[in-house]
Amino acid sequence: MSYQHKYVDGTNIHFPVGKVVCIGRNYAEHAKELDNPVPTEPLLFIKPGSCVVALEGGFAIPTERGSVHYEAEIAVLIGKPLSTKPSREEVLDAISGFAPALDLTLRDKQAELKAKGLPWEVAKSFDGAAVIAPFVVSSTFPDVTDIGIRLTINGEVRQDGNSAIMLNPIVPMIQYMAGCFSLQAGDVILTGTPVGVGPLNVGDELVLELSGVNRFESVVR
Ligand code: ZN
Repeated sequence: MSYQHKYVDGTNIHFPVGKVVCIGRNYAEHAKELDNPVPTEPLLFIKPGSCVVALEGGFAIPTERGSVHYEAEIAVLIGKPLSTKPSREEVLDAISGFAPALDLTLRDKQAELKAKGLPWEVAKSFDGAAVIAPFVVSSTFPDVTDIGIRLTINGEVRQDGNSAIMLNPIVPMIQYMAGCFSLQAGDVILTGTPVGVGPLNVGDELVLELSGVNRFESVVR
């Protein structure tokens, strides 16, 4: 089933599914839990659009490639092109929506690549590695520095963060990204994961939500 961006009311968003620009170690407590130093400048990586799958109805994970970790993240949908040095207003105007999402990671593979100083693509860019819920319109969150992200697995809260404690808040983060490479309508920003990452298993039942406003149930198949 091919993925298309859509809003919570089921309306399709007529942007192509672009790249997924991610930031690593954007919450201090998460950097610490994986024994990583807190970066002095934003640590970016990109997942191709081929990674993206919908959260609703369940999603599959690789089963023979070592541990697959969940990373619950606030996803930002870009609706207008941004490049060079966009102003704060241009960034806010370019945001089309927010959704809860999972940045899935082959953690064993990533540890092996990191130890060798190699790029992470193989661990981060497999088909299904970006699991995205339907978006709410951007006006749902007038203050982008106060958006909660929570993941519950099998009834237990595993991650409970807020954009208020990001090391690089959403607007400066997107300004920095747009200075590194152009962003297009249909691109998605994954804004980093709070503390509490861990392995996913087939059969896990998930609840993924942003500030209790968009809340979705799903299952690992
Ligand atoms: Zn992540």
